[in-house]
Amino acid sequence: MSDEFDVIVLGAGSTGTNVAWYARDNGLSVALVESERVGGECSYWACMPSKALLVPLHALAAARRLPGAAQAVTGEVDVQAVLDRRDEFISHLDDGPQASWVESISAELVRGKGRLTGERQVEVTLADGSTRRLRAAKAVVVATGSRAALPPVEGLEHVTAWDNRDVTTAKQIPQRLLVLGGGVVGAEMAQAYRRLGAAEVTVVEAGERLLSRYEPWVGELLAEIFRDEGISVLTGRRADRVERAGVDGPVTLTLDDGTTLLGDELLVAAGRTFNTDDIGVETLGLTPKGPMEVDDQLRVTAVPGGWLYAAGDVNGRALLTHQGKYQARLVGDIIAGRDRSAWADHVAVPQVVFTDPEIAAVGLTEQQAREQGLEVKVVSFRTGAVAGGALVAADPRGKAQLVIDQSRRVVVGATFVGPQVGEMLHAATIAIVGGVPLDTLWHAVPAFPTVSEVWLRLLEADRGL
Ligand SMILES: Cc1cc2nc3c(=O)[nH]c(=O)nc-3n(C[C@H](O)[C@H](O)[C@H](O)COP(=O)(O)OP(=O)(O)OC[C@H]3O[C@@H](n4cnc5c(N)ncnc54)[C@H](O)[C@@H]3O)c2cc1C
Repeated sequence: MSDEFDVIVLGAGSTGTNVAWYARDNGLSVALVESERVGGECSYWACMPSKALLVPLHALAAARRLPGAAQAVTGEVDVQAVLDRRDEFISHLDDGPQASWVESISAELVRGKGRLTGERQVEVTLADGSTRRLRAAKAVVVATGSRAALPPVEGLEHVTAWDNRDVTTAKQIPQRLLVLGGGVVGAEMAQAYRRLGAAEVTVVEAGERLLSRYEPWVGELLAEIFRDEGISVLTGRRADRVERAGVDGPVTLTLDDGTTLLGDELLVAAGRTFNTDDIGVETLGLTPKGPMEVDDQLRVTAVPGGWLYAAGDVNGRALLTHQGKYQARLVGDIIAGRDRSAWADHVAVPQVVFTDPEIAAVGLTEQQAREQGLEVKVVSFRTGAVAGGALVAADPRGKAQLVIDQSRRVVVGATFVGPQVGEMLHAATIAIVGGVPLDTLWHAVPAFPTVSEVWLRLLEADRGL
Protein backbone atom coordinates (compact mmCIF):
# COMPACT_ATOMS: atom_id res chain seq x y z
CA MET A 1 0.00 0.00 0.00
CA SER A 2 1.67 3.21 -1.19
CA ASP A 3 1.60 6.21 1.11
CA GLU A 4 2.35 8.68 -1.64
CA PHE A 5 -0.56 10.00 -3.71
CA ASP A 6 -0.86 12.82 -6.21
CA VAL A 7 -3.65 14.30 -4.15
CA ILE A 8 -4.69 13.90 -0.51
CA VAL A 9 -8.20 15.09 0.29
CA LEU A 10 -9.02 15.74 3.93
CA GLY A 11 -12.76 15.14 4.44
CA ALA A 12 -15.09 13.01 2.32
CA GLY A 13 -18.20 15.16 2.44
CA SER A 14 -19.99 16.25 -0.71
CA THR A 15 -17.03 18.52 -1.50
CA GLY A 16 -14.20 16.08 -0.80
CA THR A 17 -15.78 13.22 -2.73
CA ASN A 18 -16.19 15.48 -5.77
CA VAL A 19 -12.58 16.65 -5.58
CA ALA A 20 -11.57 12.97 -5.55
CA TRP A 21 -13.81 12.19 -8.51
CA TYR A 22 -12.54 14.98 -10.74
CA ALA A 23 -8.92 14.40 -9.74
CA ARG A 24 -9.28 10.71 -10.57
CA ASP A 25 -10.94 11.60 -13.87
CA ASN A 26 -7.80 13.60 -14.64
CA GLY A 27 -5.71 10.49 -14.02
CA LEU A 28 -4.38 11.53 -10.60
CA SER A 29 -4.03 9.11 -7.70
CA VAL A 30 -6.10 10.13 -4.68
CA ALA A 31 -6.29 9.35 -0.96
CA LEU A 32 -9.57 10.45 0.60
CA VAL A 33 -9.35 10.75 4.39
CA GLU A 34 -12.60 10.62 6.39
CA SER A 35 -13.04 10.52 10.16
CA GLU A 36 -16.82 9.93 10.24
CA ARG A 37 -19.11 9.08 7.33
CA VAL A 38 -18.42 9.26 3.62
CA GLY A 39 -20.94 11.80 2.33
CA GLY A 40 -20.51 14.25 5.20
CA GLU A 41 -23.06 16.57 6.74
CA CYS A 42 -25.33 16.97 3.69
CA SER A 43 -26.11 13.28 3.28
CA TYR A 44 -26.96 12.44 6.88
CA TRP A 45 -27.57 15.54 9.02
CA ALA A 46 -28.31 18.49 6.75
CA CYS A 47 -29.75 18.83 3.21
CA MET A 48 -31.11 15.32 2.75
CA PRO A 49 -32.90 14.68 6.05
CA SER A 50 -34.20 18.24 6.34
CA LYS A 51 -35.74 18.13 2.87
CA ALA A 52 -37.02 14.60 3.43
CA LEU A 53 -38.88 15.90 6.48
CA LEU A 54 -40.28 18.97 4.73
CA VAL A 55 -41.48 17.61 1.40
CA PRO A 56 -44.40 15.44 2.62
CA LEU A 57 -45.51 18.16 5.03
CA HIS A 58 -45.58 20.76 2.27
CA ALA A 59 -47.35 18.36 -0.09
CA LEU A 60 -50.06 17.93 2.52
CA ALA A 61 -50.38 21.69 3.08
CA ALA A 62 -50.60 22.25 -0.69
CA ALA A 63 -53.35 19.65 -1.02
CA ARG A 64 -55.26 21.24 1.86
CA ARG A 65 -55.16 24.61 0.10
CA LEU A 66 -56.66 23.26 -3.11
CA PRO A 67 -60.43 22.81 -3.27
CA GLY A 68 -61.15 19.37 -4.65
CA ALA A 69 -57.97 17.90 -3.25
CA ALA A 70 -58.64 19.35 0.20
CA GLN A 71 -61.82 17.34 0.57
CA ALA A 72 -59.85 14.13 0.09
CA VAL A 73 -57.49 15.00 2.95
CA THR A 74 -59.34 13.82 6.00
CA GLY A 75 -56.53 12.61 8.24
CA GLU A 76 -53.52 14.10 9.93
CA VAL A 77 -49.86 13.77 8.98
CA ASP A 78 -48.45 10.31 9.71
CA VAL A 79 -45.39 11.40 11.70
CA GLN A 80 -43.84 7.95 11.87
CA ALA A 81 -44.13 7.51 8.10
CA VAL A 82 -42.41 10.87 7.57
CA LEU A 83 -39.59 9.91 9.95
CA ASP A 84 -39.25 6.47 8.34
CA ARG A 85 -38.95 8.02 4.88
CA ARG A 86 -36.36 10.44 6.25
CA ASP A 87 -34.39 7.46 7.56
CA GLU A 88 -34.51 5.83 4.12
CA PHE A 89 -33.17 9.02 2.57
CA ILE A 90 -30.20 9.09 4.90
CA SER A 91 -29.55 5.36 4.35
CA HIS A 92 -30.13 4.79 8.08
CA LEU A 93 -26.79 6.58 8.59
CA ASP A 94 -24.97 3.81 6.74
CA ASP A 95 -22.22 5.18 4.50
CA GLY A 96 -21.52 1.80 2.90
CA PRO A 97 -22.99 2.75 -0.50
CA GLN A 98 -20.98 5.98 -0.66
CA ALA A 99 -17.81 4.19 0.46
CA SER A 100 -18.37 1.68 -2.37
CA TRP A 101 -18.66 4.56 -4.79
CA VAL A 102 -15.25 5.84 -3.65
CA GLU A 103 -13.89 2.37 -4.35
CA SER A 104 -15.53 2.42 -7.79
CA ILE A 105 -13.57 5.52 -8.84
CA SER A 106 -10.35 3.86 -7.58
CA ALA A 107 -9.60 6.48 -4.96
CA GLU A 108 -8.22 5.11 -1.70
CA LEU A 109 -10.50 5.72 1.26
CA VAL A 110 -8.48 6.16 4.45
CA ARG A 111 -10.76 6.01 7.46
CA GLY A 112 -9.38 8.08 10.30
CA LYS A 113 -8.71 11.58 11.53
CA GLY A 114 -6.26 13.47 9.35
CA ARG A 115 -3.95 16.30 10.35
CA LEU A 116 -1.54 18.36 8.34
CA THR A 117 1.97 17.87 9.67
CA GLY A 118 3.99 19.98 7.23
CA GLU A 119 4.28 20.76 3.53
CA ARG A 120 2.36 18.06 1.56
CA GLN A 121 2.29 15.84 4.65
CA VAL A 122 -0.79 14.40 6.35
CA GLU A 123 -0.88 12.09 9.34
CA VAL A 124 -3.98 9.98 9.84
CA THR A 125 -4.97 8.50 13.19
CA LEU A 126 -6.75 5.28 12.30
CA ALA A 127 -9.60 3.67 14.24
CA ASP A 128 -7.23 1.29 16.07
CA GLY A 129 -5.14 4.23 17.30
CA SER A 130 -2.26 3.61 14.91
CA THR A 131 -1.09 6.32 12.55
CA ARG A 132 -0.50 6.37 8.84
CA ARG A 133 1.67 9.03 7.21
CA LEU A 134 0.64 10.19 3.76
CA ARG A 135 2.56 12.37 1.32
CA ALA A 136 1.09 14.33 -1.57
CA ALA A 137 3.12 14.63 -4.76
CA LYS A 138 0.94 17.48 -6.02
CA ALA A 139 -1.64 18.80 -3.58
CA VAL A 140 -3.51 18.53 -0.32
CA VAL A 141 -7.14 19.65 -0.39
CA VAL A 142 -8.82 20.57 2.89
CA ALA A 143 -12.55 19.83 2.70
CA THR A 144 -13.28 19.35 6.38
CA GLY A 145 -16.52 21.33 6.38
CA SER A 146 -18.21 23.01 9.31
CA ARG A 147 -20.25 22.22 12.40
CA ALA A 148 -22.94 24.02 14.41
CA ALA A 149 -21.58 27.07 16.23
CA LEU A 150 -22.29 27.57 19.92
CA PRO A 151 -23.39 31.19 20.49
CA PRO A 152 -22.32 32.94 23.71
CA VAL A 153 -25.37 32.13 25.84
CA GLU A 154 -24.73 31.55 29.55
CA GLY A 155 -25.28 27.92 30.47
CA LEU A 156 -25.46 26.64 26.90
CA GLU A 157 -22.39 24.45 27.20
CA HIS A 158 -23.92 22.73 30.24
CA VAL A 159 -27.41 21.89 28.93
CA THR A 160 -28.38 19.25 26.45
CA ALA A 161 -29.43 21.10 23.32
CA TRP A 162 -30.09 20.08 19.75
CA ASP A 163 -27.85 21.00 16.85
CA ASN A 164 -28.51 20.29 13.16
CA ARG A 165 -27.63 16.63 13.67
CA ASP A 166 -30.20 16.11 16.43
CA VAL A 167 -33.00 18.06 14.78
CA THR A 168 -32.65 16.26 11.46
CA THR A 169 -32.48 12.75 12.92
CA ALA A 170 -34.90 13.04 15.87
CA LYS A 171 -37.15 10.05 16.57
CA GLN A 172 -39.81 12.03 18.41
CA ILE A 173 -41.45 15.41 18.05
CA PRO A 174 -41.21 17.61 21.15
CA GLN A 175 -44.35 19.43 22.26
CA ARG A 176 -42.46 22.72 22.67
CA LEU A 177 -39.47 23.55 20.49
CA LEU A 178 -37.33 26.64 21.01
CA VAL A 179 -35.21 27.62 18.03
CA LEU A 180 -32.19 29.82 18.56
CA GLY A 181 -31.46 31.49 15.24
CA GLY A 182 -33.72 32.58 12.39
CA GLY A 183 -31.45 31.68 9.48
CA VAL A 184 -32.11 28.97 6.92
CA VAL A 185 -31.72 26.00 9.28
CA GLY A 186 -33.82 27.61 12.01
CA ALA A 187 -36.57 28.62 9.59
CA GLU A 188 -36.80 25.25 7.82
CA MET A 189 -36.78 23.23 11.02
CA ALA A 190 -39.24 25.53 12.82
CA GLN A 191 -41.78 24.95 10.07
CA ALA A 192 -41.01 21.22 9.84
CA TYR A 193 -41.56 20.65 13.56
CA ARG A 194 -44.69 22.78 13.69
CA ARG A 195 -46.13 20.78 10.80
CA LEU A 196 -45.01 17.54 12.43
CA GLY A 197 -47.22 18.43 15.36
CA ALA A 198 -45.18 20.46 17.85
CA ALA A 199 -47.75 22.52 19.76
CA GLU A 200 -45.41 25.44 20.37
CA VAL A 201 -42.51 26.50 18.19
CA THR A 202 -40.68 29.74 18.98
CA VAL A 203 -37.89 31.23 16.89
CA VAL A 204 -35.57 33.68 18.64
CA GLU A 205 -33.48 35.81 16.29
CA ALA A 206 -31.05 38.48 17.51
CA GLY A 207 -31.11 40.35 14.19
CA GLU A 208 -33.87 42.57 12.94
CA ARG A 209 -35.57 39.86 10.91
CA LEU A 210 -35.55 36.23 9.81
CA LEU A 211 -33.23 35.24 6.94
CA SER A 212 -31.14 38.38 7.27
CA ARG A 213 -28.97 37.56 4.24
CA TYR A 214 -31.91 37.81 1.89
CA GLU A 215 -33.85 40.87 0.71
CA PRO A 216 -35.42 42.51 3.79
CA TRP A 217 -38.98 41.83 2.59
CA VAL A 218 -38.29 38.09 2.52
CA GLY A 219 -37.78 37.74 6.26
CA GLU A 220 -40.75 39.97 6.98
CA LEU A 221 -43.01 37.94 4.70
CA LEU A 222 -41.82 34.66 6.20
CA ALA A 223 -42.42 35.93 9.75
CA GLU A 224 -46.00 36.81 8.78
CA ILE A 225 -46.53 33.37 7.25
CA PHE A 226 -45.00 31.68 10.31
CA ARG A 227 -47.23 33.61 12.70
CA ASP A 228 -50.27 32.60 10.66
CA GLU A 229 -49.39 28.96 11.17
CA GLY A 230 -48.78 29.31 14.87
CA ILE A 231 -44.99 29.69 14.97
CA SER A 232 -43.88 32.49 17.32
CA VAL A 233 -41.18 34.72 15.89
CA LEU A 234 -39.19 36.95 18.22
CA THR A 235 -36.74 39.17 16.35
CA GLY A 236 -34.28 41.72 17.74
CA ARG A 237 -34.11 39.63 20.90
CA ARG A 238 -30.93 37.99 22.15
CA ALA A 239 -30.83 34.88 24.32
CA ASP A 240 -28.89 35.59 27.51
CA ARG A 241 -29.17 32.46 29.59
CA VAL A 242 -30.37 28.89 29.36
CA GLU A 243 -31.08 26.24 32.01
CA ARG A 244 -32.57 22.79 31.93
CA ALA A 245 -34.35 21.06 34.77
CA GLY A 246 -32.36 17.85 35.20
CA VAL A 247 -31.01 16.03 32.16
CA ASP A 248 -34.17 15.97 30.09
CA GLY A 249 -36.59 18.27 31.92
CA PRO A 250 -37.88 21.51 30.38
CA VAL A 251 -35.46 24.14 29.07
CA THR A 252 -35.81 27.75 30.18
CA LEU A 253 -34.40 30.38 27.86
CA THR A 254 -34.05 33.89 29.23
CA LEU A 255 -33.89 36.71 26.68
CA ASP A 256 -32.17 40.08 27.01
CA ASP A 257 -35.46 41.84 27.77
CA GLY A 258 -36.16 39.46 30.67
CA THR A 259 -38.69 37.31 28.79
CA THR A 260 -38.47 33.64 29.70
CA LEU A 261 -39.42 30.91 27.27
CA LEU A 262 -40.06 27.30 28.12
CA GLY A 263 -39.35 24.42 25.79
CA ASP A 264 -38.92 20.66 25.77
CA GLU A 265 -36.04 20.94 23.31
CA LEU A 266 -33.79 23.78 22.28
CA LEU A 267 -32.42 23.82 18.74
CA VAL A 268 -29.23 25.85 18.37
CA ALA A 269 -29.14 27.06 14.78
CA ALA A 270 -26.97 30.14 15.17
CA GLY A 271 -24.40 29.74 12.42
CA ARG A 272 -21.46 27.46 11.76
CA THR A 273 -17.94 26.95 13.04
CA PHE A 274 -15.28 26.01 10.50
CA ASN A 275 -13.49 22.71 10.99
CA THR A 276 -10.02 24.25 10.94
CA ASP A 277 -9.30 24.09 14.66
CA ASP A 278 -7.98 20.54 14.86
CA ILE A 279 -6.41 19.75 11.50
CA GLY A 280 -2.82 20.82 12.13
CA VAL A 281 -2.83 24.17 10.29
CA GLU A 282 -0.58 25.55 13.02
CA THR A 283 2.22 23.35 11.62
CA LEU A 284 2.04 25.58 8.54
CA GLY A 285 2.09 28.78 10.57
CA LEU A 286 -1.66 29.42 10.29
CA THR A 287 -4.06 30.27 13.11
CA PRO A 288 -6.43 27.34 13.72
CA LYS A 289 -9.55 29.47 13.75
CA GLY A 290 -12.11 30.68 11.21
CA PRO A 291 -12.34 29.76 7.55
CA MET A 292 -9.32 29.01 5.32
CA GLU A 293 -9.16 31.91 2.93
CA VAL A 294 -8.59 30.99 -0.68
CA ASP A 295 -8.14 32.68 -4.06
CA ASP A 296 -10.26 31.89 -7.11
CA GLN A 297 -8.14 28.80 -7.80
CA LEU A 298 -9.13 27.65 -4.29
CA ARG A 299 -5.51 27.84 -3.11
CA VAL A 300 -5.05 28.80 0.53
CA THR A 301 -3.69 32.32 0.24
CA ALA A 302 -1.61 32.25 3.43
CA VAL A 303 0.42 29.19 2.41
CA PRO A 304 3.16 29.62 -0.20
CA GLY A 305 3.96 27.04 -2.85
CA GLY A 306 0.44 26.56 -4.21
CA TRP A 307 0.10 23.00 -2.90
CA LEU A 308 -2.65 23.57 -0.30
CA TYR A 309 -6.26 24.03 -1.39
CA ALA A 310 -9.48 24.45 0.61
CA ALA A 311 -12.93 23.84 -0.82
CA GLY A 312 -16.50 23.72 0.46
CA ASP A 313 -17.79 25.02 3.78
CA VAL A 314 -14.30 25.18 5.26
CA ASN A 315 -13.25 28.13 3.10
CA GLY A 316 -16.29 30.14 4.19
CA ARG A 317 -17.15 31.35 0.67
CA ALA A 318 -20.66 29.90 0.42
CA LEU A 319 -21.85 27.25 2.88
CA LEU A 320 -23.91 25.30 0.37
CA THR A 321 -23.49 21.80 -1.03
CA HIS A 322 -23.76 22.78 -4.68
CA GLN A 323 -21.23 25.58 -4.30
CA GLY A 324 -18.77 23.28 -2.53
CA LYS A 325 -19.20 20.76 -5.34
CA TYR A 326 -18.64 23.52 -7.91
CA GLN A 327 -15.37 24.41 -6.19
CA ALA A 328 -14.49 20.72 -5.95
CA ARG A 329 -14.86 20.18 -9.70
CA LEU A 330 -12.61 23.16 -10.34
CA VAL A 331 -9.99 22.02 -7.81
CA GLY A 332 -9.89 18.56 -9.37
CA ASP A 333 -9.12 20.20 -12.71
CA ILE A 334 -6.77 22.90 -11.42
CA ILE A 335 -4.51 20.38 -9.69
CA ALA A 336 -4.26 18.57 -13.02
CA GLY A 337 -3.01 21.78 -14.60
CA ARG A 338 -6.21 23.05 -16.18
CA ASP A 339 -7.00 26.74 -16.23
CA ARG A 340 -10.08 27.24 -14.05
CA SER A 341 -11.47 29.97 -11.80
CA ALA A 342 -14.30 29.93 -9.24
CA TRP A 343 -15.68 33.26 -10.41
CA ALA A 344 -19.33 32.27 -9.98
CA ASP A 345 -18.75 32.40 -6.21
CA HIS A 346 -18.77 36.19 -6.57
CA VAL A 347 -21.64 36.73 -8.97
CA ALA A 348 -24.23 33.99 -8.81
CA VAL A 349 -24.61 31.74 -5.78
CA PRO A 350 -28.08 30.18 -5.95
CA GLN A 351 -29.77 29.26 -2.70
CA VAL A 352 -33.17 27.88 -1.80
CA VAL A 353 -34.92 27.91 1.55
CA PHE A 354 -37.28 24.94 1.51
CA THR A 355 -40.02 26.51 3.57
CA ASP A 356 -43.60 26.74 2.33
CA PRO A 357 -43.68 28.97 0.37
CA GLU A 358 -40.20 28.37 -1.00
CA ILE A 359 -37.65 31.14 -1.07
CA ALA A 360 -35.06 31.19 -3.83
CA ALA A 361 -32.39 33.77 -4.51
CA VAL A 362 -29.30 34.19 -6.65
CA GLY A 363 -26.83 37.00 -7.24
CA LEU A 364 -26.87 40.33 -5.47
CA THR A 365 -29.51 41.80 -3.20
CA GLU A 366 -30.46 45.38 -3.96
CA GLN A 367 -28.27 46.61 -1.12
CA GLN A 368 -25.26 44.55 -2.20
CA ALA A 369 -25.61 45.85 -5.77
CA ARG A 370 -25.73 49.45 -4.54
CA GLU A 371 -22.71 48.82 -2.28
CA GLN A 372 -20.85 47.68 -5.39
CA GLY A 373 -21.63 51.03 -6.95
CA LEU A 374 -24.06 49.72 -9.55
CA GLU A 375 -26.84 51.90 -10.87
CA VAL A 376 -29.72 49.69 -9.87
CA LYS A 377 -33.35 49.31 -10.86
CA VAL A 378 -35.59 46.95 -8.88
CA VAL A 379 -38.77 45.44 -10.30
CA SER A 380 -41.17 43.08 -8.59
CA PHE A 381 -44.41 41.19 -9.14
CA ARG A 382 -46.61 38.92 -7.04
CA THR A 383 -46.05 35.24 -7.87
CA GLY A 384 -49.60 34.45 -6.77
CA ALA A 385 -50.96 36.94 -9.32
CA VAL A 386 -49.75 35.04 -12.40
CA ALA A 387 -52.13 32.35 -13.59
CA GLY A 388 -49.66 29.53 -12.89
CA GLY A 389 -48.98 30.82 -9.38
CA ALA A 390 -52.66 31.02 -8.60
CA LEU A 391 -53.25 27.55 -10.04
CA VAL A 392 -50.65 25.68 -8.04
CA ALA A 393 -50.52 27.69 -4.84
CA ALA A 394 -53.85 29.19 -3.94
CA ASP A 395 -51.70 31.49 -1.80
CA PRO A 396 -51.30 35.01 -3.12
CA ARG A 397 -48.50 36.11 -0.82
CA GLY A 398 -45.40 35.25 -2.85
CA LYS A 399 -43.31 37.81 -4.64
CA ALA A 400 -40.63 37.87 -7.34
CA GLN A 401 -38.00 40.55 -7.70
CA LEU A 402 -35.19 41.32 -10.12
CA VAL A 403 -32.25 43.61 -9.42
CA ILE A 404 -31.19 45.12 -12.74
CA ASP A 405 -27.85 46.73 -13.51
CA GLN A 406 -29.05 49.71 -15.54
CA SER A 407 -25.75 50.44 -17.25
CA ARG A 408 -25.49 46.94 -18.76
CA ARG A 409 -29.25 46.23 -18.76
CA VAL A 410 -28.73 42.78 -17.26
CA VAL A 411 -30.09 41.00 -14.20
CA VAL A 412 -27.58 40.89 -11.31
CA GLY A 413 -29.89 39.55 -8.63
CA ALA A 414 -33.16 37.67 -8.38
CA THR A 415 -35.37 36.63 -5.47
CA PHE A 416 -38.51 34.56 -5.67
CA VAL A 417 -40.95 33.58 -2.95
CA GLY A 418 -43.77 31.30 -3.92
CA PRO A 419 -44.74 27.82 -5.01
CA GLN A 420 -42.02 25.73 -6.68
CA VAL A 421 -39.77 28.76 -7.11
CA GLY A 422 -36.72 26.65 -6.24
CA GLU A 423 -37.19 25.03 -9.65
CA MET A 424 -37.39 28.45 -11.30
CA LEU A 425 -34.13 29.65 -9.86
CA HIS A 426 -31.85 28.11 -12.43
CA ALA A 427 -33.29 30.34 -15.15
CA ALA A 428 -32.18 33.35 -13.11
CA THR A 429 -28.77 31.80 -12.47
CA ILE A 430 -28.28 31.30 -16.21
CA ALA A 431 -29.41 34.86 -16.93
CA ILE A 432 -26.89 36.24 -14.43
CA VAL A 433 -23.96 33.95 -15.25
CA GLY A 434 -24.54 34.45 -18.98
CA GLY A 435 -25.06 38.21 -18.65
CA VAL A 436 -28.17 37.80 -20.82
CA PRO A 437 -29.42 41.27 -21.84
CA LEU A 438 -33.00 42.10 -20.86
CA ASP A 439 -33.77 42.65 -24.55
CA THR A 440 -32.85 39.02 -25.18
CA LEU A 441 -34.84 37.78 -22.17
CA TRP A 442 -38.00 39.04 -23.90
CA HIS A 443 -37.50 36.20 -26.37
CA ALA A 444 -37.29 33.57 -23.62
CA VAL A 445 -41.05 33.06 -23.51
CA PRO A 446 -42.35 31.34 -20.36
CA ALA A 447 -44.99 28.68 -20.93
CA PHE A 448 -48.57 29.43 -19.91
CA PRO A 449 -49.81 28.75 -17.26
CA THR A 450 -46.62 28.17 -15.25
CA VAL A 451 -45.25 30.07 -12.27
CA SER A 452 -42.34 31.03 -14.57
CA GLU A 453 -44.69 33.49 -16.27
CA VAL A 454 -43.69 35.84 -13.51
CA TRP A 455 -40.55 36.46 -15.62
CA LEU A 456 -42.73 38.09 -18.28
CA ARG A 457 -44.48 40.19 -15.66
CA LEU A 458 -41.10 41.33 -14.31
CA LEU A 459 -39.96 42.38 -17.78
CA GLU A 460 -43.25 44.22 -18.24
CA ALA A 461 -42.74 45.93 -14.89
CA ASP A 462 -39.31 47.04 -16.11
CA ARG A 463 -40.95 48.46 -19.22
CA GLY A 464 -43.47 50.30 -17.04
CA LEU A 465 -46.51 48.24 -18.00
C1 LIG B 1 -29.69 21.52 8.53
C2 LIG B 1 -28.91 21.90 7.30
C3 LIG B 1 -29.54 21.87 6.07
C4 LIG B 1 -28.83 22.19 4.93
N1 LIG B 1 -29.50 22.16 3.75
C5 LIG B 1 -28.84 22.47 2.61
C6 LIG B 1 -29.50 22.44 1.36
O1 LIG B 1 -30.70 22.14 1.28
N2 LIG B 1 -28.80 22.73 0.26
C7 LIG B 1 -27.47 23.08 0.31
O2 LIG B 1 -26.88 23.36 -0.72
N3 LIG B 1 -26.82 23.12 1.49
C8 LIG B 1 -27.46 22.82 2.64
N4 LIG B 1 -26.79 22.83 3.83
C9 LIG B 1 -25.33 23.10 3.82
C10 LIG B 1 -24.56 21.83 3.45
O3 LIG B 1 -24.90 20.81 4.35
C11 LIG B 1 -23.06 22.09 3.49
O4 LIG B 1 -22.76 23.21 2.68
C12 LIG B 1 -22.29 20.89 2.97
O5 LIG B 1 -22.56 19.74 3.73
C13 LIG B 1 -20.78 21.18 3.00
O6 LIG B 1 -20.11 20.08 2.47
P1 LIG B 1 -18.55 19.90 2.77
O7 LIG B 1 -18.15 18.64 2.06
O8 LIG B 1 -17.82 21.14 2.44
O9 LIG B 1 -18.45 19.70 4.34
P2 LIG B 1 -19.05 18.52 5.25
O10 LIG B 1 -20.28 17.95 4.69
O11 LIG B 1 -19.07 19.08 6.63
O12 LIG B 1 -17.95 17.38 5.13
C14 LIG B 1 -16.71 17.48 5.75
C15 LIG B 1 -16.22 16.08 6.04
O13 LIG B 1 -14.90 16.16 6.56
C16 LIG B 1 -14.76 15.21 7.60
N5 LIG B 1 -13.66 15.66 8.44
C17 LIG B 1 -13.59 16.77 9.20
N6 LIG B 1 -12.39 16.85 9.80
C18 LIG B 1 -11.69 15.77 9.41
C19 LIG B 1 -10.38 15.29 9.67
N7 LIG B 1 -9.55 15.96 10.47
N8 LIG B 1 -9.99 14.15 9.09
C20 LIG B 1 -10.81 13.45 8.27
N9 LIG B 1 -12.07 13.87 7.99
C21 LIG B 1 -12.49 15.01 8.54
C22 LIG B 1 -16.12 15.24 8.28
O14 LIG B 1 -16.32 14.06 9.02
C23 LIG B 1 -17.05 15.36 7.09
O15 LIG B 1 -17.44 14.11 6.59
C24 LIG B 1 -27.47 22.55 5.00
C25 LIG B 1 -26.83 22.60 6.24
C26 LIG B 1 -27.54 22.29 7.38
C27 LIG B 1 -26.81 22.33 8.70
